[in-house]
Amino acid sequence: MSAGIVKVFKFGGASVRSAEGVRNLANVVNRYSENLVIVVSAMGKTTNALEIILAKYLDNDLSYVDNIAALKKYHLDIVDELFNRIKDLEERNLDLLFTELETFIKTNKNFDYNFCYDQIVSFGEFFSTTIVSGYLNTIGLSNIWVDARTCIKSDANYREGNVDYKTSFTLSKNIFDFTQERVFLTQGFIAGTPFNTTATLGREGSDYTAAILANLLDAEDVTIWKDVEGVLNADPKLFKKTCKLDFVSFQEAIELAYCGAQIIHPKTIKPLQNKKIPLYVKSFLNPEAIGTKILHSDVPLKLPPVLVLKSKQVLISLTPRDFSFVIEDSLSQIFALLYKHRVKVNMIHTSAISFSICVDEEKHYLPAAIEDLQKFFAVKYNQDLELLTIRHYTKEVIDEHISGKQVYMQQRTRSTARFVMDAIER
Ligand code: ASP
Ligand code: MG
Repeated sequence: MSAGIVKVFKFGGASVRSAEGVRNLANVVNRYSENLVIVVSAMGKTTNALEIILAKYLDNDLSYVDNIAALKKYHLDIVDELFNRIKDLEERNLDLLFTELETFIKTNKNFDYNFCYDQIVSFGEFFSTTIVSGYLNTIGLSNIWVDARTCIKSDANYREGNVDYKTSFTLSKNIFDFTQERVFLTQGFIAGTPFNTTATLGREGSDYTAAILANLLDAEDVTIWKDVEGVLNADPKLFKKTCKLDFVSFQEAIELAYCGAQIIHPKTIKPLQNKKIPLYVKSFLNPEAIGTKILHSDVPLKLPPVLVLKSKQVLISLTPRDFSFVIEDSLSQIFALLYKHRVKVNMIHTSAISFSICVDEEKHYLPAAIEDLQKFFAVKYNQDLELLTIRHYTKEVIDEHISGKQVYMQQRTRSTARFVMDAIER
């Protein structure tokens, strides 16, 4: 084994949702002989299942016990299908993890939502990586399982940990020692805090983990293995005509992620861009195909119209109660309140006496933010809207998607057109 080129792979929940998926992951990994860091998400819909367990636990609804049992069965069934002789060991490892989860639930005294979220929901990635790493080792694909909390450190800003790159750099260099082993496997989505607790990096954060590790280890490239052939110009579940994008610049990818494209977690690009590390999005069903390459480019790359739909949007309009001008008196106050409640603003519109924002519908922060805003402003809001962004728009594409729709707010720049409108059945 030697130091040298490092590639980072990320496999999402869909790719490891079944025993067949895990076998396929092994086939993909087997095609490569370079040093590898493999980042794996929780299996299938495990993260959602853990969110339900968390909600029941905090609600004192003891039926979470059944949910845990169902989650355990789901994982044990996969273990059953994957392993023969050494199944005992994998079962024992899973048992230990589930016992750890149950112990946390029984003994925890800190009921802060974000703290509990990270301690409980992070288990999904521990279940999956334990199984996948064990499986690869049994079939002769020797690898070291790494607890991501020992190499990626963040602050205790639970559910959105801020990564401490300096500390993580030193730790990672020691842990990922490619003179000892060629393949390392770790959890996405998770970091360790200075208080020895777990922090998560935001939903779908495993892409971000892959990018952080690529940055820390100066990887040659990152590949996100998905069930689609690459980055498409629109979500095929929502739009009829789609095409694959072959090359996308980092700048474009950030814009797309910001306006809600599900291609990659929005934070993923920065650690890669800083070191000009290209990112491939490829199909784990067709690993030979070229997929999409996201890369540094000094010139804009030519793209067809790209459509991004963000659903579950809320349009909030604020008017000062005393009829004073919004712009002069209140903007900083409004932003301070939104920041305090972690409300993410997707689009803004101001007029003399009103200020409108389009935000994601969110159960925990948004109601509190609205309540706070109501102390100072008359607040009106519309729910169940969608935000359609069309990058590189043409008049025809706008007409095709907007005509006949009720549009509440719209904006156009040279490259981007955005529309907040009633949600429709798709
Ligand atoms: N398992 C986490 C989630 O579903 C992280 C990820 O999939 O990237 O959000
Ligand atoms: Mg996931």
